[in-house]
Amino acid sequence: MTEEQQCPFCAIASGNIPSKVLYEDDAVVAFLDINPANAGHTIIIPKKHYAFLYQVPTEEMVKLFAVAKALSVAVVQAGGAQGMNMIYSMGPAAGQRAPHMMIHLIPRFENDKVVISWDSAPASEENLVNMADKIKSTLRSGGVSTPETIEAPKPEPKPSEPEKQDEEEKPKITWVPPKRVP
Ligand SMILES: [Zn+2]
Repeated sequence: MTEEQQCPFCAIASGNIPSKVLYEDDAVVAFLDINPANAGHTIIIPKKHYAFLYQVPTEEMVKLFAVAKALSVAVVQAGGAQGMNMIYSMGPAAGQRAPHMMIHLIPRFENDKVVISWDSAPASEENLVNMADKIKSTLRSGGVSTPETIEAPKPEPKPSEPEKQDEEEKPKITWVPPKRVP
């Protein structure tokens, strides 16, 4: 079996594994995470199998972010949230567990139990300059390939008994600015 055939998120994209689909088009599907960090926690994926963001063709990425833009309002308003985190994790060291590239939208509430944090400390001017130079020269080299330090997670076996999906009409995304995001 190929990685795509084993990938549960490819199966969600094709409808073989049911999910609570919020939006779908030819390139993108958005659905509720069944293990949400908070109610309304949404996953957005390209329908085709890509392990990492850089592999997704730009026009598919544009569609994916247009969906993220519209859903950023919808998930906040629907759940009465006070904010939202958008999370993309590249590589297991960053918390990537799925073999399929995805974006998480996590609605946030004051004093909820979600923890996204790091300790920040000022960098020296020398370190900033060195790092900026390294990143810019890598960018200029134009090579887009998986860094040797990163490995994509392997697909795990699919769940055997997926729950039944409600047949719902898939809404079309039309961008309407929010009246008020709390
Ligand atoms: Zn996949």
